[in-house]
Amino acid sequence: MIIVMKHNATPEQIKDVVSQVETFGYKAHLSQGTERTIIGVVGDDRPIENHTFELLSGVDKVVRILQPFKLASRDFHPENTVIDVRGVPVGGQQLTMIAGPCSVESRSQLMETAHAVKEAGATILRGGAFKPRSSPYSFQGLGEEGLEMLAEAREETGLPVITEVMSPEAVPLVDKYADILQIGARNVQNYALLHAVGRTRTPVFLKRGLMSTVHEWLMSAEYILSGGNHQVMLCERGIRTFETATRFTLDINAIPLLKQWTHLPVFGDPSHGTGKWELVSATGKACIAAGADGLMIEVHPHPETAMSDGAQSLKPEKFGQLVADLRLLAPALGRTL
Ligand code: PEP
Ligand code: MN
Repeated sequence: MIIVMKHNATPEQIKDVVSQVETFGYKAHLSQGTERTIIGVVGDDRPIENHTFELLSGVDKVVRILQPFKLASRDFHPENTVIDVRGVPVGGQQLTMIAGPCSVESRSQLMETAHAVKEAGATILRGGAFKPRSSPYSFQGLGEEGLEMLAEAREETGLPVITEVMSPEAVPLVDKYADILQIGARNVQNYALLHAVGRTRTPVFLKRGLMSTVHEWLMSAEYILSGGNHQVMLCERGIRTFETATRFTLDINAIPLLKQWTHLPVFGDPSHGTGKWELVSATGKACIAAGADGLMIEVHPHPETAMSDGAQSLKPEKFGQLVADLRLLAPALGRTL
């Protein structure tokens, strides 16, 4: 349920409503829009009497949110959420290009890639230090050493960094280095991990699960939001279908659907979504045309020797071409890049 305050509601009236909500044993989350304040009331699923709150002064109306996700819903926060990642705005008019290698493999590989993607127009650097691999015999990542390299690359290029965290225990360590905590597709329903990142105040990049419906995915976002971390981004990275010609099926439908249902920034990841570098540029542009706020693209200077996901990695020049294409497309969509 949400409590919509009148637009001239005073801070005291808002405070009073929040304390009433808490008296009833619920949690109040404030959404301060340019027009008015909305108070999200969440807790257990017990029905709440609307009229109890409708009578309080400063309250305009009380609205029940029909979707199971509450804090993620546009009803709670009608305007797009714009997240500030070390000065880079995510979710606003400007498109965000996240690029870098699937895995951090060595200092020289990361630095070369970081400089190249920055030159090509990336605004955030990606790189996995803890890798969720399908086989325990595959490269598992450099761990903390990889995180240190990411911090060094940030220092050298000025690009904020995003990297994956795979377990609740690792959150404090990864949080020490990362500007954005990535939750991978395989962990989208790891509720202990969602709780743990929800307790931080670091932006979270939540990938869609291989088998997640859009509803399930938004409920995972709700875990993070209800912990008080309101800086969540969603990333469509392909789902498993009967089609095996591509690695996954990039669900373009999900992008405009999410833009309707939620205020959170939405990304497309055509690298994992297709598994083939030849398809990345076309499907990346499709994500942006469908309303995505940005892309996550795997880039490697020598994809043939990559320790993970070489087949879907773009060389820096190809990534540069994609950004150049998007710079032409962006104005037609009312976006900038
Ligand atoms: C990744 O970004 O390298 C990754 C492992 O992604 P996903 O969790 O979407 O498979
Ligand atoms: Mn990858």
